[in-house]
Amino acid sequence: LQSNTLIVVLGASGDLAKKKTFPALFGLYREGFLPNDLHIVGYARTKMDKEEFHKREVSYIKNPANDEEVTKKIEAFQSISTYFAGAYDKDEDFQGLEKHLQEIESQYPTEERNRIFYFALPPSVFLDVAKGLKKNNYSERGVNRIIVEKPFGKDLESSRQMMVTLKKEWQEDETFRIDHYLGKEMVKNMLVLRFANIAFSAAWDKNSISNVQITFKEPFGTEGRGGYFDEFGIIRDIQQNHLLQVLTILTMERPVSFSAEDIRDEKVKVLRAIPPVEQKDVLLGQYVSANGKPGYLDDDTVPKGSVCPTFAALTLWINNPRWEGVPFILKAGKALNEAKVEVRIQYKDVTSGIFRDIARNELVIRIQPSEAVYIKMNVKTPGLVTRAMPSEMDLTYKRRFTDTKIPEAYEALILDAFKGDHSNFVRDDELDAAWKIFTPILHWIEGKKGPSPRPSPYPYGSRGPNELENFITGYGYKRVETGYVWPITNVA
Ligand code: NAP
Ligand code: NAP
Repeated sequence: LQSNTLIVVLGASGDLAKKKTFPALFGLYREGFLPNDLHIVGYARTKMDKEEFHKREVSYIKNPANDEEVTKKIEAFQSISTYFAGAYDKDEDFQGLEKHLQEIESQYPTEERNRIFYFALPPSVFLDVAKGLKKNNYSERGVNRIIVEKPFGKDLESSRQMMVTLKKEWQEDETFRIDHYLGKEMVKNMLVLRFANIAFSAAWDKNSISNVQITFKEPFGTEGRGGYFDEFGIIRDIQQNHLLQVLTILTMERPVSFSAEDIRDEKVKVLRAIPPVEQKDVLLGQYVSANGKPGYLDDDTVPKGSVCPTFAALTLWINNPRWEGVPFILKAGKALNEAKVEVRIQYKDVTSGIFRDIARNELVIRIQPSEAVYIKMNVKTPGLVTRAMPSEMDLTYKRRFTDTKIPEAYEALILDAFKGDHSNFVRDDELDAAWKIFTPILHWIEGKKGPSPRPSPYPYGSRGPNELENFITGYGYKRVETGYVWPITNVA
């Protein structure tokens, strides 16, 4: 879309709009990536005048040095933005919005009218809004697209229901389902790392790889937002979508091309080869108070006695010739010792004979913070000895690509939606396959199959429950305990 385009942000008074959608739109606007005559329209129930909306719209846009050029850009960005207040379930309000949109569009030089609708809304109003927009605001003279965000249901059945209802209004090719991990630089990079490097792709299978961990760690707890979290739990929040997407890109076969459907065909194929997670492959945890920090149950918004997991490690298996027998451990937790998201691929032991107690190779893809790819590898200890020691080959983005700004995930995804490129959005059958893998254990955790399992307590700020060590080593992971030290402390 080059021109005659507007984007309507529904739920414009909310958290997602303020923290992600508007800053991402601004980032793209500033760099000149948006259609040249783009207009942004905020819509929500809250009554706000233009000034109030403009203030909120840019409240998360950074300009710490008060750079004059940035200030000008911010003002220009505000000048292409308007706000319209209305309900999510009233035709007359959507018709009011329609009038507002047509006024803006009356300035267009030609008859073409393209509209993108961004849902920054709680799922409870999703379907009403989808219906209301289709009925009252669908452009007959251009492209219409909706951008929606998780949660897409709570299990297989509710997700299917939601999809069936949504599809009555909006076609699959008009629908852009965001999983913002697919917009992250290092997640996108995995396709290139895998398929543009023979050195990696040749050893990318069960013959060379012992086990894989995909880890999400957050150093804070729910901090007063536990009510929302408790309905979902860590598995729905992180593993079922974000970490599973990472796993899919890491393990799918080579797509015929980089086109959206070719990529998504391969993703669905590998997802369908993953059987539902079994109870024996799950470790659950919940953080408790430590070092002056409150436990999960101390959060007033959390229901008393909740057994909702705030930590989970679970192992997935892929029943195909490339990956049979390789455990993929997806672990995620709140209130842990650090913030990081990484993929850690651990290779098998070298054939015994010439080396003893030698460290295994590991390929680490650090998604955040500080993007990096490094391989832990053995080298001869420098000097007059012939002993192997673990060292690394390191590609830290900050050091290697000093002048490049890595875009925010939402910037990359919104730009794709403008371009109509679905590669980094979740297709309907992909979502269905993802829910099939997780629904049985989610029902077990929620007590739909008998008493709920009790999560193991872990102290706020720790690495997780005590059982984690045995859980991981049980799948063959061997920690490098041979004195490996990362010598550079100022970049990690
Ligand atoms: P939010 O702030 O709670 O809601 C957005 C707006 O929707 C609110 O400003 C409010 O606007 C309206 N709203 C809230 N509750 C409502 C209700 N019960 N009935 C009708 N309208 C209601 O939500 P959010 O954090 O922006 O998240 C929006 C969506 O993005 C959700 O699906 C969420 O799961 C997802 N998401 C959010 C984030 C994030 O960073 N916040 C990250 C990933 C995904 P009015 O009252 O003015 O109409
Ligand atoms: P690491 O932090 O030593 O972690 C390696 C693995 O061991 C992770 O799976 C980790 O689990 C686990 N682990 C950590 N502490 C443990 C403990 N006390 N008991 C049992 N298991 C434990 O990571 P690394 O890759 O070997 O690197 C070492 C350090 O060097 C890190 O700080 C890393 O950031 C830095 N480094 C940086 C770069 C770079 O910036 N380019 C390159 C190489 C190394 P969890 O995942 O659960 O934490």
